[in-house]
Amino acid sequence: MSEEKFYFQTEAAELLKMMISSVYSNRDIFLRELISNASDALDKRRIETLKNSELAENTNPEIKIEINSDKKTLSVSDNGIGMTKDELIKYLGTIAKSGTKEFLQAVKNDANSQQELIGQFGVGFYSVFMVAEKVEVITRKLGTNETFKFTSDGTGSYTIEDAEQRNECGTTVTLYIKENKEDTEAKNYLEEWTIRDIITKYSDFISWPIIFKDKTVNSQKAIWQRPEKEITEEEYKEFYKHLTHDWRDPLTHIKINAEGSTNFKGLIFIPSEAPLELFMDPDAGGISLYINRVFIMNDCKVLMPQYLRFIRGVIDSEDLPLNISREILQEEPIIKVIRKSTQRKIFNEFKKLLEKDREKYIKLWTTFGKILKEGIVQDYEHAKNIFDISLFRTTNSDEWTTLSEYETRMKPGQEGIYCLAGRDNIEALKASPKLEPFINKGYEVLLMTDPVDDVILSQAGFILPAEAKKLLNISDDNVSAETEDEKKEIEKKIKALNEDFEPLKKKALEIFSEKLSDVKLSFSLTNSPACLRGGMSLQMEKMMQAMGQTMPAQKRILEFNAEHPVIKKLISLAKNNDEKVTDMLKILYDQSMILEGTIPDNPSEFVKRIDDLMSLIPGE
Ligand code: ADP
Repeated sequence: MSEEKFYFQTEAAELLKMMISSVYSNRDIFLRELISNASDALDKRRIETLKNSELAENTNPEIKIEINSDKKTLSVSDNGIGMTKDELIKYLGTIAKSGTKEFLQAVKNDANSQQELIGQFGVGFYSVFMVAEKVEVITRKLGTNETFKFTSDGTGSYTIEDAEQRNECGTTVTLYIKENKEDTEAKNYLEEWTIRDIITKYSDFISWPIIFKDKTVNSQKAIWQRPEKEITEEEYKEFYKHLTHDWRDPLTHIKINAEGSTNFKGLIFIPSEAPLELFMDPDAGGISLYINRVFIMNDCKVLMPQYLRFIRGVIDSEDLPLNISREILQEEPIIKVIRKSTQRKIFNEFKKLLEKDREKYIKLWTTFGKILKEGIVQDYEHAKNIFDISLFRTTNSDEWTTLSEYETRMKPGQEGIYCLAGRDNIEALKASPKLEPFINKGYEVLLMTDPVDDVILSQAGFILPAEAKKLLNISDDNVSAETEDEKKEIEKKIKALNEDFEPLKKKALEIFSEKLSDVKLSFSLTNSPACLRGGMSLQMEKMMQAMGQTMPAQKRILEFNAEHPVIKKLISLAKNNDEKVTDMLKILYDQSMILEGTIPDNPSEFVKRIDDLMSLIPGE
């Protein structure tokens, strides 16, 4: 095959451009990326040959690093799985990572945070272009006899051609180190001490030997097998980065050491920011399974419930057979034991963090709380545990609070924990008319803004143990801030108004026969003329409709503030059968939707009605 020219996918080319201009300050990590890739390739080869012993080649797996000061090259070789020509194009010519487009968009709009964003995204192989002016990849895939050479200077295109046959499968990546005058430091990557330093710092725990100048330079010790007190923070961080390809430090780690009927060790991490794929791919997972220090598989979903999918790490068991497959894993009782005990440990550690380092825990919660909370409705067994470590915003202050902290502030005789769910924006939620009676009476109300909160509120009654304080949704018609005596008083007042109110009520029920189950007068609202009650929040309803879910029509109650001038006027207009009542009712209904944080069903009609009303104001 003669040389063929290819163009990088647009997104890849844009990332490369950023790499060449080298916005990332810590360039050493290109070597960590290459060693990580080589190590992954050796893992993959081992697993392939386990499945198919005919593929086994009689060589020792290793990663070899060489420098050639005359040619000004640095190379990283492995005898791992290698790549076919198609794979070269797919893996090195394009970026399959979800969120690439969004990432590039974000970088374009905010040049200052390029560095931070690159760290978040992780650019893997492309990081070589921070230090190299040209890169060659020579590779032969396991089980094939073809060797290919990929060459690129990182500017838009690359070539692939046949290369001299490699003796064994694997890949050699050769960097031609930059030589320009402005970049005086790149040549350090041709120095023995620099390379040795980087390997020790970033890749000491790699489980395959890294050979440099004919000697193995890494200790190959699995970090999770070592005693906790021996491991430095730096080592934890570097291991995390190797494992996750995240460029940022983790928020925290948890060491697991289970001894008893089932022995296993583990090391798990909480990332400091949500990886991009987390919200885009609800199936993303991040636990690698090892058996007796041997890598078996990454992304082992059975080890973690879905709502802990943001956790990354390693679990290593002595008690599983080496040839275990993904399919039988699920049935394996040991896996269930490991999963259970890891979960318990995680909840305990989260609780400790909440008590000891509130600031860090708040960071964890603001990043992953949304996902963790899904567990309340997915995993009844741990629902209470999750409630205990959940943080909430409230009407009292801008601080986060736990349920038990809220309980200490409850007023004497308060029946339960008052909650209001809906809207993704806390400020909008704070403006809800439903809060008025509770705030007036000095009650604190939890403000819940995540999609899962509606479901939590509707199910809390049977999820929480009987002795726990009840969660009372103040949107429900039967939850009110008034005492029994006050309620009786109000009933009397309402009764007295009933006759006058009847024509308006009839009219409203006629207009909104599909949407309302009742129309009521109320004395608990203060500033707002009306609000909608009952059913799931309008936002939730819209979201479920958008997802194509069918559900029973949600009929709500429209509540009128009996003391509001607009309502007083409306009552009297309706009594006189005034034709403006219909428009006014429709405006009030749409207003109530807006206060719930949703757009009226027909915004242009709403606007037109308001305009018509304004045109009645006297003047030119
Ligand atoms: P990541 O490692 O995060 O997937 P990279 O850009 O570093 O991203 O690599 C892209 C892909 O190229 C890898 O997922 C792997 O499939 C392939 N690859 C890279 N280096 C090697 C190698 N030394 N041997 C085999 N495949 C490799």
